Amino acid sequence: MTLTKKIVLLPGDGIGPEIVAEAVKVLEAVDAKYKLKLKFEQELIGGAAIDQHGVPLANTTLDKCRAADAVLMGSVGGPKWDTLDSSIRPEKGLLKIRYELGLFANLRPALLYPQLADASSLKRELVAGLDILIVRELTGGIYFGEPRGIRRLDNGERQGYNTYVYSEHEIERIGRVAFDMAMKRDKRVCSVDKANVLEATVLWREVMQSLSADYPEVELSHMYVDNAAMQLVRAPKQFDVIVTGNMFGDILSDTAAMLTGSIGMLPSASLGKDGRGLYEPVHGSAPDIAGQGIANPLATILSAAMMLRYSLGEAEAANAIEAAVGKVLDQGLRSADIYSDGMQRVSTVEMGDAVVAAL
Ligand code: NAD
Repeated sequence: MTLTKKIVLLPGDGIGPEIVAEAVKVLEAVDAKYKLKLKFEQELIGGAAIDQHGVPLANTTLDKCRAADAVLMGSVGGPKWDTLDSSIRPEKGLLKIRYELGLFANLRPALLYPQLADASSLKRELVAGLDILIVRELTGGIYFGEPRGIRRLDNGERQGYNTYVYSEHEIERIGRVAFDMAMKRDKRVCSVDKANVLEATVLWREVMQSLSADYPEVELSHMYVDNAAMQLVRAPKQFDVIVTGNMFGDILSDTAAMLTGSIGMLPSASLGKDGRGLYEPVHGSAPDIAGQGIANPLATILSAAMMLRYSLGEAEAANAIEAAVGKVLDQGLRSADIYSDGMQRVSTVEMGDAVVAAL
């Protein structure tokens, strides 16, 4: 007997509702084909939740997310809520859900469909077929370490300070995510640290090294973060999975994202310890194009594919969605953000329909 898989949809603001609607259409199509038994429940987050409930994420919504197998989000924010007090801004809803669901692993694939290689700022031959997965630790490291602050020294000068701290269990759990991901890919993990300078990352390297004994099939390498930044723009295709701490991951994942050229194509996942996760496009709510029907829904559709693969164990259906996206690009269909001469410009809804047809 297949159990129903509960998915909470949080379309959010701006283009969020438009792009999530297309992802749902695609999920319904794979559900019909692969008998996945998906069950959707739609809730509010961000500005839409502020308008309705006075807060960016209601506790009842949070409870539904906790009880679900996965959460698929659009995006939050927009000028309408920019002047609100920072404690109830739309983005707080996103931070709250990440924190409350214990989402410690951020997965950011940098995958460049060969059809879009000219959109990259790097030469086509360096990036065509690029497929990297960056696994970033999301709830620890220097962004959360204590003590932190700005203090006044005895000589009257002010001093800013933060603490780069990682415990073994934090390193091990993010390491396991990376190794598990690598097992489903090309079986190579590159752990990025600064072990020549920072003791916290000496420990990081030691834990990654001992963890690798549990994954004999996976090739583990280590790289200093400065070299990793250089290699990402010199020869990015050398990487399969990159695992790193919060701050290094923040920077490297944005670098890797830009290798692909288009923000409308990039999905992401944030996972907790039981495999449950929050899936969302990397881009924001794009208020400048909201309501015009021209947003690219592919990042959200690809986020839905990640959800099937990582939280619902439906790799075949995930592969089918990714292949369908490739097919649609082969057909020359392009939303406005990835349009180039000679291609066929399509709307948000037409793009979603085309992916469904390609399935
Ligand atoms: P943005 O990503 O929303 O937009 C940047 C540019 O990319 C805009 O020109 C936009 O039109 C374009 N764009 C983005 N997604 C697109 C898509 N799917 N198809 C076509 N074009 C697309 O970033 P921004 O303008 O800096 O932020 C707008 C709002 O989104 C702000 O309120 C910000 O706080 C919020 N935001 C939310 C998230 C999130 O929900 N995770 C992330 C980033 C920004």
